[in-house]
Amino acid sequence: MRVDLRSDTVTVPSKEMREVMSYAPVGDDVYGEDPTVNSLEERVAQMFGKEAAVFTPSGSLANQLGIRMLVSPGEELLAETNSHIVRAELGAAAVFSGITTRTWPAQRGLLFASDALSVARPDSGPYLVSTKAIAVENTHNFGGGTVQPLSEIQALHKGAQEMGLALHLDGARIWNAHIASETPLIEYGKYFDTVSVCLSKGLGAPVGSLMLSTKENVVKARVWRKRYGAGMRQIGMLAAAGHYALDTNLSLLHHDHRRAQFLAKRCHAISSSVVDPMHVDTNIVGLDLSELPISATEFAAMVKTEGVLISALGPKFARLVTHLNIDDPAMEYAADVLADALQRTLVSK
Ligand SMILES: *Cc1c(COP(=O)(O)O)cnc(C)c1O
Repeated sequence: MRVDLRSDTVTVPSKEMREVMSYAPVGDDVYGEDPTVNSLEERVAQMFGKEAAVFTPSGSLANQLGIRMLVSPGEELLAETNSHIVRAELGAAAVFSGITTRTWPAQRGLLFASDALSVARPDSGPYLVSTKAIAVENTHNFGGGTVQPLSEIQALHKGAQEMGLALHLDGARIWNAHIASETPLIEYGKYFDTVSVCLSKGLGAPVGSLMLSTKENVVKARVWRKRYGAGMRQIGMLAAAGHYALDTNLSLLHHDHRRAQFLAKRCHAISSSVVDPMHVDTNIVGLDLSELPISATEFAAMVKTEGVLISALGPKFARLVTHLNIDDPAMEYAADVLADALQRTLVSK
């Protein structure tokens, strides 16, 4: 059996999704004439209580368009040390927008409003860089799918308002946070000036993200999207996959969360230092191998020989992600392989 737990981006579109894509009405989206894109943008904006949205080919671009609306060249964005914007977008904020970043570290990426607010320096005058915005990642990817507490988001919003700072939500997996915490999407939308969401993670669309904000920001973001070379034409087929994902796959995410719990518990049972199931909020299981005599790369290679693919993200940190294409038999097989590999590692100690 082959079980790919490297990421929830590896899902392939189902037959039903492909069918819906094949008969989607389309038009030229650069002219604003693709009805399926237009309806998806309206739909997702409404879900979060935002005025408008713009479709993008990647979540990175949705993030970059969002923060570009909030921070000017030579100004500063604050983000958590292991956030996607800082670590996984290849310096795009600096390269494209002249944005500098400063970071605060957080265990499991968990947000404490005071961590972010205490490093913020708005209106710093002619000597120091002025902070303009703070980015929050929910769920936190490299933190292990951590759901950010609503109370901390609210505290951050209050503090940011007092300091005149804007807030960006990297909501690539906000869907998982919504399902796990039962917080309405519209509630999340309230606290952020710009929001990015991905359709191609747990929701299983082959391509697609959106940036949500005010009408004015979205009009500006469309200009930048085109300037970056991401003005697209008859992409109603991609938007149709997004509609299908929201109709059908959003309500399935709780299975991914249940399966991640199962994997975490099986690993924990062999070696409790590796993962605490209480800290697995959603579909991502971070494995901390620091107390085991094996590197993440070696561990990943070990389980790969049995057909289980996982990501080695740090010298001693591996990541498993459950998704639409992992059913219960695949989960059980992967759990057996992982447990056996941990057991063998412990015996060799
Ligand atoms: C996947 C992801 C993105 C976007 O990634 P793309 O590969 O550019 O679509 C953004 N933020 C987070 C937290 C992610 O996990």
